[in-house]
Amino acid sequence: MLDGVNSKPDFDTMAVHAGREDLVELGLHAPPLDLSTTYPARDSRAEAARLEEFAEGARPPGQPVYARLDNPTVGRFERALAELEGAEQAVAFASGMAALSACLLATVAAGRPHVVAVRPLYGTSDHLLASGLLGTRVSWATPETLAAELRPDTGLVLVETPANPTLREHDLRDLAIACGEVPLLVDNTFATPVLQRPIECGADIVLHSATKFLGGHGDVLGGVVACREGFARSLRQMRFVTGATLHPLAGYLLLRGLSTLPVRVEAASATAHELATRLAEHPAVLRVHYPGLDPLRPRGQLRGGGPLLAFEVAGDPHAVIGAVRLITPAVSLGSVDSLIQHPASLSHHIVGEDDRRNAGISEGLLRLSIGLEHVEDLWADLSAALEAGAARRAG
Ligand SMILES: *Cc1c(COP(=O)(O)O)cnc(C)c1O
Repeated sequence: MLDGVNSKPDFDTMAVHAGREDLVELGLHAPPLDLSTTYPARDSRAEAARLEEFAEGARPPGQPVYARLDNPTVGRFERALAELEGAEQAVAFASGMAALSACLLATVAAGRPHVVAVRPLYGTSDHLLASGLLGTRVSWATPETLAAELRPDTGLVLVETPANPTLREHDLRDLAIACGEVPLLVDNTFATPVLQRPIECGADIVLHSATKFLGGHGDVLGGVVACREGFARSLRQMRFVTGATLHPLAGYLLLRGLSTLPVRVEAASATAHELATRLAEHPAVLRVHYPGLDPLRPRGQLRGGGPLLAFEVAGDPHAVIGAVRLITPAVSLGSVDSLIQHPASLSHHIVGEDDRRNAGISEGLLRLSIGLEHVEDLWADLSAALEAGAARRAG
């Protein structure tokens, strides 16, 4: 990959160089941004043959015929993400939900519409499975009951670890064994490949809302699935017919985001660990959910505690949201600025109240995504907001 480097480069090095291998030969420094919607060709017969290949999910050499089939700039992001996750392929989509929808549609199309999933999941993912809108049928399981829920028509097992929003962790090696021949899909949005590479732990498919840490600046909506070539073909077929393509500019920005991903995630994780420790001592906080503080967590899986934490307040959680002045009071996560939100009102509002409570998402739970601000500025803002929340209950 890199001249003069025989062994595989370090992850940090891959994050900078993946998807850019040919730039020096092209005489370029920044990757080219190809905004074409169509690609002229004088030989229609040859184009017909290539179109067929694209429609079957292959990627024949040369230009993509039409922008819904493929895009060279997006292709760079896909190659880079596949490399970082240790996967054969990656397929990018217009959003994280478009990526998950394509996985479910591919599963239904393969004649195995039954999905086993472990709660909690991101609210819209939970809703998509619970509603059966795409023709899947879900059985909810715990890691312990998962194997017993598998049926001959089970096409997919779906988990998040750490899970949104409670940061609950699952042992992926154990889950991969329990799944047997059924593909295990891991939503790795919270950990990013910097802290956790599910394929190394036995998972088959890794999904990201690229909107979060991969983009990293709150200005790109995107999704991506890393997997083997066979499933990637099914996903490209689905993308071709549904049109859930990632815009080339988004692909450009996501590739740029990957180059700083390790630095951003490491810095935010260190701050999150410090804030989680302080929150655990704070009188207005009932409970802190943070992987780095849990002694019983799976070993050798998530490196460090990560940039997200959640905590339950005794006072009014809405007053805490209303009182922050530095931290951004908004849903979403993974940006350079810290974001706080109330899962029961926003990210998980669409999940039924009972299901929400059973998954550990209480009314007092707040989720905090740490950015790149200084830890003392964040703590000053957070502790002042906690006082406001506690006062609201008292008053
Ligand atoms: C945000 C999110 C999604 C959905 O991604 P979009 O890009 O918003 O469609 C899926 N999974 C997790 C864990 C998320 O946080």
